[in-house]
Amino acid sequence: MKVRFWGVRGSLPVPGPRTERYGGNTSCVEVRSAAGTRIIIDAGTGIRRLGKDLMREEFESGNGTAHLLISHTHWDHIQGLPFFSPLHQKGNQLYVYARRRDDVHLRAVFASQTDDPYFPISIEQAKAGISFRELADSAAFEIADVHVTCTRLNHPYVATAYRLAADGASVAYVSDTAPFSDILFENQYIAQPPSLRASLPEGDRAKLRAMRDGVVRLCEGADLVIYDTMFTPDDYYRMPHYGHSRPSDALDVCRHAGARRLALFHHAPERSDAEVDAILAETRSQALGSRLSLDITAAYEGFDLDLGSRGSI
Ligand SMILES: [Zn+2]
Ligand SMILES: [Zn+2]
Repeated sequence: MKVRFWGVRGSLPVPGPRTERYGGNTSCVEVRSAAGTRIIIDAGTGIRRLGKDLMREEFESGNGTAHLLISHTHWDHIQGLPFFSPLHQKGNQLYVYARRRDDVHLRAVFASQTDDPYFPISIEQAKAGISFRELADSAAFEIADVHVTCTRLNHPYVATAYRLAADGASVAYVSDTAPFSDILFENQYIAQPPSLRASLPEGDRAKLRAMRDGVVRLCEGADLVIYDTMFTPDDYYRMPHYGHSRPSDALDVCRHAGARRLALFHHAPERSDAEVDAILAETRSQALGSRLSLDITAAYEGFDLDLGSRGSI
């Protein structure tokens, strides 16, 4: 199973000299099984270059099929989709999966993204076939030879984490999420940071425990865990109501799940390459200090892994 990162940034794209090494594009990860099944997780601006790459293969002649798993539909996870070239070639087929909403169908959510006056080509006018598949929080299903499981995350209006297993290897994608300790996010916007010292009602704590158990299960024994580590401890202290985690939260989940490798992901837009380097070094030393055996990387654009052979390619 091959994994490639095309976008590793959170919130919005930030090109420029300060982000040259890790990259400025928003969330997009490609997973390809040995049998050739193509799965894309999230459609941030990183998907544009992936689309150009795919057009050099069978997508150019309209014979391509891709499956797109969306963690949630905040801009940074969908904003590249209208620029995904395979969509504009007749014959290609794209399957889009995301969490079911009670109020509006997934197709309508994506159609509104390209509605006039926001974009000239509506999703209905795209030449490729697009099918939408709505998912329950703990859905489990097959995409050809890839087994996919889901669990819900702690994020404003909720996000979905995915685990993909194929070729005897597995990858878990956990973005975006707050830790499972101080705030319970559901379908609501929290305008003010709550006091981190205030204790939560038992009902909320029980829901957070169940959510955390779900995430640990999803990451269990994973060869690679990709985790939202957008926040430093200070960011979290100031903005716990924004719904993101710190590297220590990812370490905690990886420890309990017995994961092999962690990729820090969804880097904050204001974070320079040097700052990401420093966060990576600090996270590695934290893991070492707590005797956690875990291979830790900060994800960057173009980072490739072959999980079947347990090494970089
Ligand atoms: Zn995000
Ligand atoms: Zn989000």
